[in-house]
Amino acid sequence: MVDLAGQHGRIQVELDAALLSAANAGAYIQGPEVKTFATELANYLDVAHVIPCANGTDALQIALMALGLKPGDEVITATFTYVATAEVIALLGLTPVLVDVRPDTFSLDLDQVRAAIGPKTKAVVPVHLYGQAADMEALMQLAQDHSLFVVEDCAQAIGSTYTFSDGRKAKVGTIGHIGCTSFFPSKNLGCMGDGGAMYTQDAALAEQLRMIANHGQKVKYRHDVIGCNSRLDTLQAAVLRVKLPHLNAYIQARQEAAAYYDTGLSQIEGVIVPARTSASTHVFHQYTLQVKNGQRDALKAHLEAAGIPSMIYYPWPLHAQPAFASDRYPVGAFPVAERLCHEVLSLPMHTELTAEIQDHIIHTIQSFYHI
Ligand SMILES: *Cc1c(COP(=O)(O)O)cnc(C)c1O
Repeated sequence: MVDLAGQHGRIQVELDAALLSAANAGAYIQGPEVKTFATELANYLDVAHVIPCANGTDALQIALMALGLKPGDEVITATFTYVATAEVIALLGLTPVLVDVRPDTFSLDLDQVRAAIGPKTKAVVPVHLYGQAADMEALMQLAQDHSLFVVEDCAQAIGSTYTFSDGRKAKVGTIGHIGCTSFFPSKNLGCMGDGGAMYTQDAALAEQLRMIANHGQKVKYRHDVIGCNSRLDTLQAAVLRVKLPHLNAYIQARQEAAAYYDTGLSQIEGVIVPARTSASTHVFHQYTLQVKNGQRDALKAHLEAAGIPSMIYYPWPLHAQPAFASDRYPVGAFPVAERLCHEVLSLPMHTELTAEIQDHIIHTIQSFYHI
């Protein structure tokens, strides 16, 4: 599904030098690389504050902790996402309120968000699933009308650019109150272990995020709030500093690979290739087909028999997970997400795909449909 060794091989010399230099410097925790990386990422995103942390799940948790919510407050998010998005809401004693997604982009259905807003609703967490932004302009308007916070889950969409109706452009994660991302190795900007970051334009929120990620302290051993321990390692920051300048090229390689898949697959009647919205670039963390006529699992097996991996992101919606089951959402409550869980199939997508590899994948899919 990914080729991290191939990607690293191209920048091996730079990576080796950065790792060795960080190892020899000895400042393994909060070394200078961490701060420098934060500044470089802030410049890339054009955002005022970047606060690195230990992983993307922590980023979401710390973001929600910084908003001053009370137990029982409700946070609206998509039922069709990675578990981390909703997990942290529940862990903090907040109530996740799940809604269905749009059938084309798989991001939050804003009519459903509007209908789910009640007196306890305090925040919305849009997920820019697979690498394409949710409807941020309309969502920010809705949030403003109802005094809600917006925390963007950008773990799959770092570098994606959103264009507002007046032509203004912004990177995802810099539009809501806080953006959260992950540097898990397979993400579009991945390190060699775990890592994550939060972004915000708001200085007061930035201070709160920084404090919470550091045991609730601004002054050493003086704890103003209950926090946690969530840090990006110096070694990971050193890796990310080498890779960040390549992020745009990585995105371009993914977009070219996606276009190549499209050419070979879009005329097949049994599959739907990923939709693109005009408001957002798609950075293709995943290239995800919808496989019609109940044939998804058979197509997956056909690919596997030819030695081609494919993945189902995600096989169950959150409302159908034992951990999140609620009378509020009986089975059938969210038909789009429930259908997608039976139809989605993500193909290998990374920066090292060649026409030869993609031709093999495309021909194997075509042969499944007797083309
Ligand atoms: C990867 C991911 C996360 C969590 O990131 P970790 O670094 O693995 O904790 C959260 N949300 C989404 C949508 C993700 O894809």
